[in-house]
Amino acid sequence: MPNMNPKKCPMPEQAPDVRNKNFEEVTLGYTAEMAVEEAQRCLNCKNKPCMTGCPVQVKIPEFIALVAEGKFLEAAAKIKETSALPAVCGRVCPQESQCECHCVRGIKGEAVAIGRLERFVADYARENSTEKAVKPESNGHKVAIVGAGPAGLTCAGDLARMGYEVTVFEALHTAGGVLMYGIPEFRLPKTIVQKEIDTLKDLGVEFVLNFVVGRSETIDELFGDGYEAIFVGSGAGLPTFIGVPGENANGVYSANEYLTRINLMKAYKENADTPIYHAKKVAVVGGGNVAMDAARCAKRMGADEVYIVYRRSEKELPARLEEIHHAKEEGVVFKFLTAPLEVLSDENFNVTGLKCQQMELGEPDASGRRRPIPVEGSEFVLDLDCVIAAIGTSPNPLIRHTTPGLETNRKGCIVADDEHGITSKDGVFAGGDAVTGAATVILAMGAGKRAAAAMDEYIKNKNK
Ligand SMILES: Cc1cc2nc3c(=O)[nH]c(=O)nc-3n(C[C@H](O)[C@H](O)[C@H](O)COP(=O)(O)OP(=O)(O)OC[C@H]3O[C@@H](n4cnc5c(N)ncnc54)[C@H](O)[C@@H]3O)c2cc1C
Repeated sequence: MPNMNPKKCPMPEQAPDVRNKNFEEVTLGYTAEMAVEEAQRCLNCKNKPCMTGCPVQVKIPEFIALVAEGKFLEAAAKIKETSALPAVCGRVCPQESQCECHCVRGIKGEAVAIGRLERFVADYARENSTEKAVKPESNGHKVAIVGAGPAGLTCAGDLARMGYEVTVFEALHTAGGVLMYGIPEFRLPKTIVQKEIDTLKDLGVEFVLNFVVGRSETIDELFGDGYEAIFVGSGAGLPTFIGVPGENANGVYSANEYLTRINLMKAYKENADTPIYHAKKVAVVGGGNVAMDAARCAKRMGADEVYIVYRRSEKELPARLEEIHHAKEEGVVFKFLTAPLEVLSDENFNVTGLKCQQMELGEPDASGRRRPIPVEGSEFVLDLDCVIAAIGTSPNPLIRHTTPGLETNRKGCIVADDEHGITSKDGVFAGGDAVTGAATVILAMGAGKRAAAAMDEYIKNKNK
């Protein structure tokens, strides 16, 4: 008999006024008892609607049925059949708009907590399994991956399991992409990401760090080194600035830089010598996950007042619901229907405020969301000493400028077919944010997975 409780089993978490002063994980995860109780809410529907919402087709009802029986390691193995990074996805996927929004239990109550169960199972396996990945026998073919984010890591893992000699070239000194440099420790502990990278190393994947493709070597030079196919998963790490006067004052950051200094360069640690401005009054402009992360980090770095400045209403906020909820609980103040007009600064060029304007919503624009329209005479000033721009990113132009024959679109994204990641350049495949623009971890993983299958096909056909 399923558990007919209309509500999800709640997730234990740190109290808001405790956690907004530390960088430890906010949500603490289910216990085994909680996981079994929650798994028993699954109706094991025949047509598996939840799976239609998962870009990597995790066998959701099957793994949940194993959890309900207490077979946690078997459940982890079931997820691993299709997903390389369950401990990551269980923490950061927008389940409410993917698997969980198709859950039948969501019609008359809350959906089954698929993400929380995925996280539980992945954590359990990490802590209790003694199994170690083993390098498969080599098939004698070399492939290269550009970028060690979720797209590149997934592609690398699948190709390594097929027997390819895989080398990942990463520009930064640490593999993991946004999972390492962007998403804060309190949402995604870095030991978890590192463990996934170590598994790839056990499979024989080689990581070459501090290697900027397009500078250290070009794509064509990598082909010259004997790589038969190359996957480009270089992400979309180039920040967009707000485009208002005064924006180059001291105390204005892009969210990417601010988060990189805190996460990757460990500015949050006591005695860290990473230069960062410990601001007291901060405004983050934007409403996505990146904006929530920057705002919540600013609180933890000691700011007394932190604002999210967003030009539409709460309904249009693109961030995950959980992040919005947590940010509010932690004391972040939301200024909805507010657009920045000018960054104000003093005679030393240090930020003193942000001039803003009130907006109202008009007709839907090309994105389908209602267009914000300025309300005349509604200007006001927020007193601040720091402004963080989190209004979007695009791919860095380096690869497109150094790779003749690689087609890109007007947003600077590589043009690649969605099903296989095939680009205009023979032997080059691409996926993740480098193709779609800033999107999600699971979409990047899905693209890496499909490209790995297509690269295998390509190399086999070439060597027939
Ligand atoms: C702060 C933040 C929070 C986010 N929160 C969420 C969330 O909660 N949920 C979610 O699903 N998504 C979230 N996202 C989005 C998600 O992280 C990305 O969509 C995802 O990481 C894209 O994966 P990727 O592999 O395509 O690129 P990335 O993760 O960006 O990885 C690309 C890698 O390529 C490397 N690289 C770039 N150029 C070169 C080069 N020339 N040579 C060698 N290496 C290169 C980069 O250094 C990087 O390591 C967030 C993004 C940010 C920035």
